[in-house]
Amino acid sequence: MTILLWLIKNTKTEIKIVLATLAVLIFLPIVSVVVVASSGVQLVGDALAALNPITHLVEIFDTEGNVIGEVELTTNWPTRGYISDEFGSEQQFRLDWGLGAHTGIDIANQNGLIGEPVTPFMTGTVLFVDQVDDSACGINVKLQHDFNITSTYCHLSSAVNIAPTTEVHPGDIIGYMGSTGASTGPHLHLTTAVYGIPINPRTFLVGEPEGSTVVVPTF
Ligand SMILES: [Zn+2]
Repeated sequence: MTILLWLIKNTKTEIKIVLATLAVLIFLPIVSVVVVASSGVQLVGDALAALNPITHLVEIFDTEGNVIGEVELTTNWPTRGYISDEFGSEQQFRLDWGLGAHTGIDIANQNGLIGEPVTPFMTGTVLFVDQVDDSACGINVKLQHDFNITSTYCHLSSAVNIAPTTEVHPGDIIGYMGSTGASTGPHLHLTTAVYGIPINPRTFLVGEPEGSTVVVPTF
């Protein structure tokens, strides 16, 4: 009996060790990836685009850290509304949906209505207009800017059919706020990227967007 108890006790210990080892092996990579995803996005982004505090210009770097271009800060928010989710956030629904840290910034319509016009945050050319709601981004428009900067406007209710390579400017309407794709309600998701790596849009955009223009129906 004593031997049996000893065996059970020690077996349990071994099982505990095995389980603990397995747990570490299983969860460590996930924890590592999540940590890298949440802190790394911003760190990598800072190495590619950062505000020069002396010139007040946003400097774009190459992979060796050389400045390849400078762009001016802008107040040209792509739509009206309020910031409902910041870049890099990890809201619970993202984890539930198996998504990583937020790769852009969300601007939601105060009134929860679709239709707020969407405009380029800086001058660029159209890379593509995706009218098919078959991805997490939903109906979306992607623009090319100077110095390998791109911007993507997701979850549109509809996109204006503009031919690729057409130049578009802040103030031009490229689409309308909606809730297509992986979206929890009407909002615009703006991704700004350098070399395809998401950068916090607030690196380029100062202040806050203006309030909504879409009027709440009174009936
Ligand atoms: Zn978003």
